[in-house]
Amino acid sequence: MPDVDKGTVRITDIGPPNYENFLPPIIKKNYGKWLYHEILKPGVMVHVSETKDKLYTVRVGSTRIVSSDFVRDISNLADKYCNGYLRFTTRNNLEFLLDKEENIEPLIKEVQALGFPVGGMDHSLGNIVHTQGWLHCHTSASDASGVVKALMDEFYDYFVGDKLPAKVRMAFACCLNMCGSVGASDIAIVGMHRRPPTVMADRVKDLCEIPSTIAACPVDAVRPKTINGKPSVEIDEDRCVFCGNCYTVCPALPIADPLNDGLAIFVGGKVANARTKPTFSKLAVPWLPNNPPRWPEVIEAVRTILEAYKDGARRGERVSEWIERIGWPKFFKITGFEFTKYHIDDFRLGEATMNYSNYARL
Ligand code: SF4
Ligand code: SF4
Repeated sequence: MPDVDKGTVRITDIGPPNYENFLPPIIKKNYGKWLYHEILKPGVMVHVSETKDKLYTVRVGSTRIVSSDFVRDISNLADKYCNGYLRFTTRNNLEFLLDKEENIEPLIKEVQALGFPVGGMDHSLGNIVHTQGWLHCHTSASDASGVVKALMDEFYDYFVGDKLPAKVRMAFACCLNMCGSVGASDIAIVGMHRRPPTVMADRVKDLCEIPSTIAACPVDAVRPKTINGKPSVEIDEDRCVFCGNCYTVCPALPIADPLNDGLAIFVGGKVANARTKPTFSKLAVPWLPNNPPRWPEVIEAVRTILEAYKDGARRGERVSEWIERIGWPKFFKITGFEFTKYHIDDFRLGEATMNYSNYARL
């Protein structure tokens, strides 16, 4: 592993160490001097500096949850080919940063022998950024890793190839709190609760602080109520937006519901301001069943979007730009998705239900 320069370690016990300690020397040397970059082949990119230095990046699809054996394997490869430097992207990719072109092919060979794909750059499907799902989070309406594994198995060729009109960024969040970047991804999948939490009235008094449970609700839907002679709460179903915040502070208000929980699909978000301005994702499919272990309905819907985009978009057009050009009515016609009342967000009921912001107005 690279030596850390102790002289530049931050004198603080707050936050991570100074990232500059972990930059490869070639990046430090060429800071502010990079002229351009180009994709050499799927998953391999070169950055060229005005000093004539070249930095090669090999992007490898990884998972969000990894084993210590995996970390050992990739660290050994980084030691062998990259002077010990390695980085993780926000989309759970690994990036090996090389200063010798002749190391690219041997590195790819070893990575593939470990069973990991090289790709995810430019005209390809990126690795899916996702949240915690059933593995870890209490408010999830669906699993995260399981759906993402099923999707990436299915669309593997789009990750290792370069056949899409432009890059496609997918994101997955297992509830409306959206810890993943679903708000601005080309295709976003979101876990949806459709019923308020269940009130386990007999247990509220023993497990929960009632005032903080009431305060946790962003739309003022939790009210104090005496039930069977015990202090408890009730939930105003018309106001509840199924966010699960009350369950976070009160374990006696579970929100998971196998029959009503499901998934929605949004499309057309992007962070980049290249050519067109950044956009938020918009609703395409309001609800699909939560169907483990392979979530076939979700895979089919994503396939429909990807294939319509691949066939219809111009070279370089992101999903949002393609839809804006052809128009939303045509998007629904091509994909065959039903346009429903759930696609219309006119805030008409906002004043009455308080469902229009994170703030309770008393
Ligand atoms: S998106 Fe929701 S359920 Fe998923 S990890 Fe975040 S808070 Fe938990
Ligand atoms: S905190 Fe969220 S889930 Fe709980 S009652 Fe309020 S809106 Fe519904």
